[in-house]
Amino acid sequence: MDQYVANPMSRVKIRQVVTYIRKTFNLEDERYFPVMPFLEFGMPQIDKKFNYEIRTMQEMGSCYGITFPEENLIAIREDVYDRAVAGTPRDRFTIAHEIAHYLLHSPKTVAYARAVGPQKVPAYLDPEWQANAFAGELLAPPQLIIGLEVSEVERLCGVSRTVAEIQLNL
Ligand SMILES: [Zn+2]
Repeated sequence: MDQYVANPMSRVKIRQVVTYIRKTFNLEDERYFPVMPFLEFGMPQIDKKFNYEIRTMQEMGSCYGITFPEENLIAIREDVYDRAVAGTPRDRFTIAHEIAHYLLHSPKTVAYARAVGPQKVPAYLDPEWQANAFAGELLAPPQLIIGLEVSEVERLCGVSRTVAEIQLNL
């Protein structure tokens, strides 16, 4: 079975990247990460060539978002975009996840690996795990949620219950 593998990236390393990004944009202490303004105004500051496209349900099918690093493009399904603008946690997470693919993964850093037997690639090599870890760290950094209840993290950070629980239990 073929699987994508990415350059090794631990949660600690991912957290360092997120911390750097938040610092650069003066968002170190901001619990509610402004993911849509960041997509629109922050990303082009990181990469001048960056652009994103809103695509129809017909074009995207079951795909919420897809990143084409070689085209400097993130494509987002229109309903996901609209809900992310409205602040829906799941859709904010999707945008953060695609941003992670854009910033961390390119054809140069992601490769196909043929796994031997049924075992999966280790998490730190899995680009999907890396993108999810990045999104969790970006939206709910552990140092900003210490001592909070799950429901407070959901509300203050604009994340789902699942993400709040994961980030609180790290
Ligand atoms: Zn992904």
